[in-house]
Parts: sequence; structure tokens; C-alpha cells
Amino acid sequence: MSRVYNFSAGPSMLPEEVLKKAAAEMLDYEGSGQSVMEMSHRSKVYDSIIKGAESLLRELMNIPDNYKVLFLQGGASTQFAAIPLNFMNGSNKADFIITGQWAKKAFSEAKKYGDVKAVASSEDEVYTYIPKTTKADFRSDADYVYICMNNTIYGTVYKELPDTGDTPLIADISSCFLSEPLDVTKFGMVYGGAQKNVAPAGLTIAIIREDLLGNARDITPTMLNYQIHADNDSLYNTPPCYTIYICKLVLEWIKNLGGLEKMKELNEAKAKMLYDFLDNSKLFKGTVKKEDRSLMNVPFVTGNEELDAKFVKEATAAGLVNLKGHRTVGGMRASIYNAMPIDGVKALVEFMEKFEKENG
Ligand SMILES: *Cc1c(COP(=O)(O)O)cnc(C)c1O
Repeated sequence: MSRVYNFSAGPSMLPEEVLKKAAAEMLDYEGSGQSVMEMSHRSKVYDSIIKGAESLLRELMNIPDNYKVLFLQGGASTQFAAIPLNFMNGSNKADFIITGQWAKKAFSEAKKYGDVKAVASSEDEVYTYIPKTTKADFRSDADYVYICMNNTIYGTVYKELPDTGDTPLIADISSCFLSEPLDVTKFGMVYGGAQKNVAPAGLTIAIIREDLLGNARDITPTMLNYQIHADNDSLYNTPPCYTIYICKLVLEWIKNLGGLEKMKELNEAKAKMLYDFLDNSKLFKGTVKKEDRSLMNVPFVTGNEELDAKFVKEATAAGLVNLKGHRTVGGMRASIYNAMPIDGVKALVEFMEKFEKENG
């Protein structure tokens, strides 16, 4: 068996230990005589999996008791509609910061439900930076302010949150979930698709401040009403059972490593190795403004499309896969989520050095 280093933006690498444990438990989960894929979501044995995942997440992220944790389906994209339906319920206004395609999609979807305003945008420079805002930029009567915390496609991240005063801040954290500690109390809601850093595709986790729940619009589809899922402990209908199980294994893996502080340290070491190389390379160049660089997604270019294509092709042959940049930006992108071992980044940097010598 030979495994590649997979730099995919998502679905992406899972820790090898997790995959091995899942394989070992495939036919008979803890003496139940069944695979987790086969068991009733209402069984006692499954209840310990979903409850276990929630309590581990609460512990690792230090989630206060006045926040609900919901295990949902439909991907992050479904929340683009669910969020306005649930929370655009006072002035019917919401303010957005447009830092890339995902924020823009959320904005366009919310526009169907009320008065949305793009308060700031970095579209003018292909989203290579996080626009600065002050409290005065936001409408004081907005129901919420929406951001995309880590911009998967462009490789930017918020290092300092916008000051929204008393207006709840809602953040899409799909591509930085569990990558470092996050102060949940600064948000009305954070949520993300699991397939970047938490589990396989099929699970979306939402963490919501309780007092914001219960005011969804009447037309809200039952399945998009967060209150319904909160009242039913994410078991209103069949949840993505197996994905939640893998999520639990990933959370155990993070806990055993030393939690989110340790995760951050490891992620910083990996990102530094790659950014240091890019900053000193004569061939490769990072595309993001230094102070806004993501720890998770690292886009870079040679400045020559043909050379970019050659790089991606040769890297793939060397077992470094999925390095092609997003179709809307070109170039390369290395996604180095939690499960990417430091040896994978080392291998990438060594390969880039060699490529530079041969083609620089
Ligand atoms: C991948 C991604 C999405 C889309 O997630 P789906 O689960 O495919 O809907 C949204 N936001 C961010 C930041 C992402 O990285």
C-alpha cells in the first residue's frame, strides 16, 4: 500500500490513525456485531457516538453551555439560506464582508430574504487580503454580520475579528474548524462543512448561541429550522451517522495530540515551513498579503501558466496530489489541514526546491 500526500481543499486528508481505527471497527463496532453504518440512529450504542462527539467538541472548543451544537446535513451551502431564514428576523437587515466566493454565495442567497449590504469587499484585488472595517461600517440595526473566517480558495484568514458591537457575528469556519483555539463567545453562530478538517463530507456542524434561536420565519422549511434540530438533539431525522462517528474519532485524535493549542502549534510549524520557502524562492510566489495568510490553504504561483501546469503534473507523479489551484484563480494551492503530517509539507518544499533548480 502506498498513500500519497493529498493537498486537496476538501474533501481532504483524514488522520491515518482514524482511518485505521475505522477499518478495525468496520464489521463489529465495540461488540455490537454491526458496523456503525448499519445501526439505528435511535439505538443506545449510536447515542453514545453522537453524544460522545458533541461532548468532545464542547471540551476541545471550550463551548459554553448557552451554545447549542447541531449536527446537520446539506453542507455549508445549505446554511447560506438557513441563516437568513433563522436570524434575519428583526430589521430584516444583514451586513456581509465579501472576502471570496463563499462569502459572496452566502450574500447572494441571503439577498433573497431581506436587505443585505456588502459592507466591505476585497474583490478589487482578487480577494488576496481581508478588508479592514470599523464598527461604524455596520448598520446598527442589522440582525447580524456575516463573515467567512478562512477563505479556502484565496488563502486568507481573519486574525482579528471585525468589531460589530452588539450585533451578532456569524462566521463560516468550514476550512479552519479545529485548526486552532477559537473564542466561540465572540460569535452568535459559527458553522462549517466537516469535509475540510473534521470528517468526511455529509456533515455540517453549527454552534449557535441559544438566545438567537426560536425566531425563524414561518416559511422556514422544518429541516432548515435550527430550533427543531436543537430541540431534538440533532436527531429530528436520520443524521449522517457514519460521518458523525468519524468526526468523533477525529476529535479523539485531536484530544490525544494535546488539543487545539497543540494543533495550532503544529499547523503554524507546517505553514511557516511553506511560507518561508515561498518568501525566499525566486520562482514561486505566495499570492496573499502576508498579514492575512491562512494556516490552512496556501495559494502560490510561478507567474507562468505553463510552468504551473508542469509543476502540478510532476508533483502528482511524485505523490503530491491535488495541488492545482481553484478553477477560478489558477496557479497552485496547498491545503495543509490538521491531518496533513509535517513530513508531507517537508516533501512538498523539497519537491519545490528541486523544481526550482530544474526550471528557475
Ligand atoms: C468548502 C466550503 C464551503 C462549501 O461547503 P459545502 O459543504 O460544499 O457546501 C463553504 N464555505 C467554505 C469556507 C468552504 O471552504
